[in-house]
Amino acid sequence: HSVYGIDKWGKDLIVVTDKGEVGLKNPLNPKAPAVSLPDILSDLEDRGIQSPMVLRVSSYLESEIKHINECFAEAITRVGYSGVYRGVFPIKVNQQAQVVDRIVQFGKPYNYGLEAGSKPELVIALAHRLAWDALIVCNGVKDPEFISLAILSRKIGFNTVIVLESPKEVDTVIEVYKELGVEPLLGVRVKLTNQITGKWEESSGDRSTFGMNTDQLVSVIDKLRDAGLLHCLKLQHSHLGSQVPDVNDVRRAVSEACRYYTELTREGVPLTHLDLGGGLGVDYTGEKSATENSINYTMREYCTNVVETVKYAMDAAEIDHPTLVTESGRAVVATSSMLLFNVLEATLYDAPTAPKPEPDDHHLITDLLAISEYVTADRLQECWNDASFYRNEMRALFHRGYVSLREMARAERIYLHIMARIKHHAAFDDISVPEDQMIRLSDIYHCNFSLFQSLPDVWAIDQLHPMLPLQMLDQAPDRYAVLSDITCDSDGKIDKFILEDGVARALPVHTLPEDKPYYMGVFFVGAYQETLGDLHNLFGDTNVVTIELREDGGFDLLHEQEGDTISEVMSYVEFDPQDCVAEFRKMVDEAISSGALKSKERKILMSAYRDSINGYTYYE
Ligand code: PLP
Repeated sequence: HSVYGIDKWGKDLIVVTDKGEVGLKNPLNPKAPAVSLPDILSDLEDRGIQSPMVLRVSSYLESEIKHINECFAEAITRVGYSGVYRGVFPIKVNQQAQVVDRIVQFGKPYNYGLEAGSKPELVIALAHRLAWDALIVCNGVKDPEFISLAILSRKIGFNTVIVLESPKEVDTVIEVYKELGVEPLLGVRVKLTNQITGKWEESSGDRSTFGMNTDQLVSVIDKLRDAGLLHCLKLQHSHLGSQVPDVNDVRRAVSEACRYYTELTREGVPLTHLDLGGGLGVDYTGEKSATENSINYTMREYCTNVVETVKYAMDAAEIDHPTLVTESGRAVVATSSMLLFNVLEATLYDAPTAPKPEPDDHHLITDLLAISEYVTADRLQECWNDASFYRNEMRALFHRGYVSLREMARAERIYLHIMARIKHHAAFDDISVPEDQMIRLSDIYHCNFSLFQSLPDVWAIDQLHPMLPLQMLDQAPDRYAVLSDITCDSDGKIDKFILEDGVARALPVHTLPEDKPYYMGVFFVGAYQETLGDLHNLFGDTNVVTIELREDGGFDLLHEQEGDTISEVMSYVEFDPQDCVAEFRKMVDEAISSGALKSKERKILMSAYRDSINGYTYYE
């Protein structure tokens, strides 16, 4: 199983058990034995909960929240920082009630708050009883209704900060304040000029769409001062972009943010909070490097760098150390969810045997068969070239009508058999096959999930998530596959995988067992994936199960959210399921009248339609 690099990316959460199965370790209780994921799946299946499913492990969420708060607290003590940390969770990263509710619950001891980037998110935030010193930070574009709600929420004890995104927003805030007669708690978003590397480069620097430049900041200060509201401006916000790969980019950005903080303070703004946004990354590949799907730092190091940089800057400017705020989303929730699905069938890209020569074989078939004699480790590329040439010549003749279907089938089979032998050598003689060939040699494993619904970033931005089979890991994988999803879209496939030696274009897998299911797991999908997913081909939300890992190595089922039924997804696209049933019934009755259908068949046909409409959108 070492081929999957689980020791690198598993973070002591995802391990392989003695039975060769993927197991979940409990970070809150490292001595407890790992819980086997296939056991969890079969237990859930016994309870009537089927895959594909998102499995949320609440123990992982709890542990990440504890970890970020403790890392900041430790850094604050170590560095001698005199302020505190008041993190907020950005709701947009995972808006599901089961996640947000638990984050609030686990965050209470740390005065952990919420970030809302829109009015709906603010409405969600305000439905939670936060700790007395926790913040609600409001970012994004705000209309007067949003602003009134934020201001008035202070009356019932919320520390709701309205982060001003533009000079125009200041005018709206002043107007709403005048109407309500209640003072707002304000923040201001500055646009940092330092640019980060990685996928979210565009979110930072001069051309980022959010935040104000120095000229705009000055005008905001003047407007607030004129309105008698400058004393309400307490927080400075900046956001670098998500998944910052290089910790030195964090340092540079924090340093720049401190320059603004210092200058704003000198302007007479009574700032008390420095909010550094998101960006704390997740090491998806386990490479510990400043590359797109990895990071070259740990959470502890991130916290130390932030605290140290702010302390030095504030000390140099002789300003009180501010309360530190971060809006880390990805790092808090990514590890807590995984997508689990079964493989439905395989399209194998080889043939175990080649047909025997026949006296009247086409000479190209004889040439193809002859390659079999020199498939040796040192001549693999040559065999590949020859086999492809002869097979393509045969195809050309077939297209023009000179070769029959049966002759073509013989040629394809011989070709695939040669490919099987090339693959075998490549795997067992450890000969590296070029990437593009690797993908053309691999099988296609058809899997019961929708890439567009459950892993949208894999499709949209080439996000890599660790993934591997959940069982048989005590046996060497004997095939390579790309994973194709259940949608009818050729984009619905995964062909980049994190392996021990780096990223590969095919995943080592086992020949599918005949007598039992073969499950795959995709890990660290808790951030962004659930909400960005769409209804391509009308595959809806999967079942979602929240569990907690017990001390004895078992688990407790905390919550089950049934996936969308077909009738639910129909209503999302404006169909009324009842109308559809009625229309279908009419056509059935017409068919009976015309004699095409027997009366007895009506019942079976109607219940088939109804069962489908009430059932799961995935393969059952
Ligand atoms: N805060 C703001 C303003 C954001 O736009 C984002 C997301 O990009 C976040 C926080 C969360 O970032 P991350 O998930 O990298 O922690």
